[in-house]
Amino acid sequence: MAGKVSTAKGKTGATKSRQKYQNTFAFKPNKNNTAAVRIVNLPAQGLCQRCLDIIDWRKRMNKYKPLSQPKTCLVCKGKKITDAYHVLCKGCAGERNVCAKCQESTDIVISDVKTPAQRLKEEQEQAAVLASMSERQRRSYLRKMDRGDDEGAEKLATAAAEKEDGGWSDFDDNFGDDVEEESDDDQDDQ
Ligand SMILES: [Zn+2]
Ligand SMILES: [Zn+2]
Repeated sequence: MAGKVSTAKGKTGATKSRQKYQNTFAFKPNKNNTAAVRIVNLPAQGLCQRCLDIIDWRKRMNKYKPLSQPKTCLVCKGKKITDAYHVLCKGCAGERNVCAKCQESTDIVISDVKTPAQRLKEEQEQAAVLASMSERQRRSYLRKMDRGDDEGAEKLATAAAEKEDGGWSDFDDNFGDDVEEESDDDQDDQ
């Protein structure tokens, strides 16, 4: 609910009934952030669809950390990995025909080029999922991403997406006691 309470002007020291409110925000990657845009457009190659999705999520959530220097391939031990979150170099992954991240799937997606429309759709879905989460869930979700717990984060997001129609409401009801309030009534005095 978005009830707006007009601040009582001119009253000082009177009993203030402060409205408790939740600051809800929808996470939005800043489109003007060129670094973020650059990251989104970084290629992810030799991956299965699942890992591709995970990396894509990371990019969109600003949780993608590009490699600052080439990483060692688990198989050939060469410092040949240039794509973040990959554990096999392109050569080794290609030779074995496995995903360069999970090393399990052999169902490699050839092209990861997405149309702007596809990206937009995914962004919207992402925004919808995040909007359906309470702030606490969102925090936990982002924490999982930070920890590199891709599966946990994905699970949370999936659960949130599936239970969009009120399944989370119990959570939301219990939330709100540790929200910080901003004082906005100090400038009324003259
Ligand atoms: Zn290798
Ligand atoms: Zn994979």
